Amino acid sequence: MGYIEPAPITDKENPFESMMERFNIAAEKLGLDLETYEVLKSPAKQVIVSLPIVMDDGHKKVFEGYRVIHSNTLGPSKGGVRYDMDVNLDEVKALAAWMTWKCAVVDIPYGGAKGGIKCDPANMSKGELERLTRAYTVKMYEIFGPDIDIPAPDMGTGPQEMAWIMDEYSKAQGKTVQAVVTGKPLVLGGSLGRVEATGRGVMVSAMEALRKMKINPNGATAAIQGFGNVGSNAAKLLAQKGLKITAISDHTGAFFNPDGIDLREASEYRATYKTLEGFTGGEKITNEALLELEVDVLVPAAKEDVINIKNADAIKAKLIVEGANGPTGAKADKILHEKGVVVVPDILANAGGVTVSYFEWVQNRLGYKWTRDRVNRRSDRIMKEAFERVFGIAEKHNVSLRIASYMVAITKVADTYKLRGSF
Ligand code: NAD
Repeated sequence: MGYIEPAPITDKENPFESMMERFNIAAEKLGLDLETYEVLKSPAKQVIVSLPIVMDDGHKKVFEGYRVIHSNTLGPSKGGVRYDMDVNLDEVKALAAWMTWKCAVVDIPYGGAKGGIKCDPANMSKGELERLTRAYTVKMYEIFGPDIDIPAPDMGTGPQEMAWIMDEYSKAQGKTVQAVVTGKPLVLGGSLGRVEATGRGVMVSAMEALRKMKINPNGATAAIQGFGNVGSNAAKLLAQKGLKITAISDHTGAFFNPDGIDLREASEYRATYKTLEGFTGGEKITNEALLELEVDVLVPAAKEDVINIKNADAIKAKLIVEGANGPTGAKADKILHEKGVVVVPDILANAGGVTVSYFEWVQNRLGYKWTRDRVNRRSDRIMKEAFERVFGIAEKHNVSLRIASYMVAITKVADTYKLRGSF
């Protein structure tokens, strides 16, 4: 069809190009017409704002904030807000597109968006973070809205930031608007089960994949990169299913224990010190070494492009379940597929978070609260159904689970777009 451009040969992949490489393969397999292809790949809106903030010492510092709405074909756009020094427009564009595909894979009536602020939240006070979050919300008044664009937490943000966004947005509306944001604290209309939801979806995906691969989870081993919201909850839930978590990590380094990491001890250590640095429950190794451990399951749950052309050959895990968005580069994907490593891709594996975010939004609009059990049962069902859908397409077309996920997502968005038109 002539729309696939060769990707530049570099070690570090540009996240948007990396996403597009996989999108292109799926689009080609589906025979997507060029007109729809152009619409689906182009972000609907890209906003960059400057945020001048008074820091605690009295000086003013200007931060750069982003919001990209990739698509609102399936419904209001949905996507997290990331606070990190690496945030840039291309990253936010890729993350926004992944949200579109993710919502489509799990069949949730949302489009995709993402936001971010280039900042170092670990080295900012609570007051500075509040002023920054409120300033960002003010600049996004026109974009956010329960029927337009609904933010959620991502790396570096959590329930407190969501509470500030909800409050600042509500001020402008003159009324409390809970459904403008998800991932809120429970008392402000958050959903039971939301905090663990992404890790839970990772666990459900891993169990489904292990079942297909005929690997007994009891006694199987797993290494988890990133011990934040997604990684720590995935570790805990996988351990409850009988897996032995032999390695965990955060940005300061990794810890390996062949007898299994004591996860309660690790969580308590992180809660006390805000980091795993100095943790003694395992041998200190590097984050790179963690990825290359001899384990059954590897869960990258930190950042993009950690499995890349440099280390893909050295990966020994039989199954990779992507908790993070974009942890595997497009070139690494090819190598892993050829080696027979099964990869449950981000747009499927970590969709539990947006699924329960959707439940939170539904509950806010109903003015009603579901039990944790109801939330978990419904999200487990959605994750299992999505896995089956993707697995079926992968078998039918003899493609990886990633390409199959993109095929499911593109079909859904393209069909909807063709029916409804151009909004
Ligand atoms: P978080 O901030 O709670 O945790 C991130 C973890 O990664 C921390 O332990 C941090 O120390 C670690 N980390 C950062 N840089 C690292 C590096 N270079 N090497 C190893 N570890 C590193 O964030 P989170 O919410 O758990 O998100 C993690 C990933 O999951 C992100 O890619 C995010 O986009 C994705 N994700 C999150 C959700 C969600 O609901 N929170 C949903 C879907 C996808």
